[in-house]
Amino acid sequence: MKTDNASGKTTIPAYCEKCEQEMFYLSDDLEGSYFLACPHCRFETSCVWCSNCGMGGPFIREIEKRPQSWQCPDCESQHSLSFRFYDTPIILLREGDLPSKIRWGHRVSKLLVLLVTFLGLAAFIFLFFSIVVILRN
Ligand SMILES: [Zn+2]
Ligand SMILES: [Zn+2]
Repeated sequence: MKTDNASGKTTIPAYCEKCEQEMFYLSDDLEGSYFLACPHCRFETSCVWCSNCGMGGPFIREIEKRPQSWQCPDCESQHSLSFRFYDTPIILLREGDLPSKIRWGHRVSKLLVLLVTFLGLAAFIFLFFSIVVILRN
């Protein structure tokens, strides 16, 4: 299992449709099923995993009616939810709400991607010009 901070929890992205923003939640079980709530706009969503085909996502329909089961959109198998599923919503966090340690991790990984892209581009340009020079000689 992939963990990216010292507490052993993983930050998982989830989309808030009302804030139109990518949010995150902290989880210690990557394939756990969660009832998620946005504290900014009270949008409710879910992240559930299909044990049959391994798909995960916001698959609970009409969540405001608190259904006790859901159907996988991929393999159409039915899954039931525990009675306590809606008791404790997991609060979604904006990137700015994340603990600073994790936030820095995100920034560092973004910087790394930028650096790798830049180096790749530089190598390509260098290669291109050396080929041009070789062909001219
Ligand atoms: Zn929201
Ligand atoms: Zn499935």
